[in-house]
Amino acid sequence: MNTDKDYIKRFVAMQKLPYEVKVKRAEQRVHEFYHEIVDTREKNVHISVGGLDSLTLLYFIRSLGYSEKEIPAIGATVLEHKSIRKIHKQAGVIPIYPNISKHEIIQEFGFPVISKAKAKKISLLQDPNADKITFIHAIMTGDMGKQGNYQHSEKIKLPDKWLKKFGGHYQSHRPDLCCQCANFKVSAECCKYMKEDPCDNWAKEHSSYPYLGLMASEHGQREFALMKNGCNYYGKDTIRSAPFAPFMRQDILQLALDLEVPIPGAYGEIKRKSSGELYTTKAQRTGCDICGFGIHIEKRPHRFDRLREEEPKAWHYWMYEVCIDEITGEHYGWGRVLDYIGVGWEDIPAVQMNLFDFI
Ligand code: SF4
Repeated sequence: MNTDKDYIKRFVAMQKLPYEVKVKRAEQRVHEFYHEIVDTREKNVHISVGGLDSLTLLYFIRSLGYSEKEIPAIGATVLEHKSIRKIHKQAGVIPIYPNISKHEIIQEFGFPVISKAKAKKISLLQDPNADKITFIHAIMTGDMGKQGNYQHSEKIKLPDKWLKKFGGHYQSHRPDLCCQCANFKVSAECCKYMKEDPCDNWAKEHSSYPYLGLMASEHGQREFALMKNGCNYYGKDTIRSAPFAPFMRQDILQLALDLEVPIPGAYGEIKRKSSGELYTTKAQRTGCDICGFGIHIEKRPHRFDRLREEEPKAWHYWMYEVCIDEITGEHYGWGRVLDYIGVGWEDIPAVQMNLFDFI
């Protein structure tokens, strides 16, 4: 019987295949998924489109001869950067709208910040009466208790840097640290309400299963599942195709060049360094304009700096006004969050900003 280690070993070997082989295999996976879902199960398929990776998937699938009617593309277009919205429109992506606005999500649930996995843990720490106390202890210390065979996991533990900022309610679990509580909420729920649920609902209504532009190398939430389940997965609760699962960043950028995918302005251009490495001259990845996931590791000018340049009124709203403090009644926004986690945002590094446009 294959163990998790075997799956991962096999997957890592796939990631090391030459670009041309990976593209050929991706092509086969697209055809196989279509055949299984449409011809055999008599259901439908669609492409879920967001940023550059899934846009490249859309152009890839079209290059294989599948029309908009055979495999339509859908996306939560309204949330994307305006340059991405423009290309979604050109490419015939069907816009999917959430039932709730982003400011309602932030007010009710909290800010999506740092990373999805860490935001989930922080939101648990922010509840002073959390019932999952064993899990809380594991987040604070890495010690997994009886349920986890008394093992220690650095992966489950939140780094001390964030425990000091958000672990105040559970200080007693880490007497060696001085832990505080933030005066704003953190949440990992935003994507679920804004993107995942609306797209899942569309899929259910259309008896349709998605092609996704996910790559395990992006180390997202689904990295392990992608490695274990591979490109095409027909599970009990999840059925999906991720033909680019074994791709590396260089593969997707090369494919975007080969297919002449229109590159949204948010990414700038795809260029090659003297080492031969491909890169995008502006954002390397995009989420929504005002998403805080990854902001703590982004160099300035970061996404909020760019929003300030492009849409100063919107920037002001998101930085100062989007939320109302439930205790003081004052308006506040991302400015409070960024200050608290130590990300600069008030002064635009003007020289860098100009340089950035010409890199
Ligand atoms: S990318 Fe960020 S802001 Fe956009 S829906 Fe997901 S969590 Fe929310």
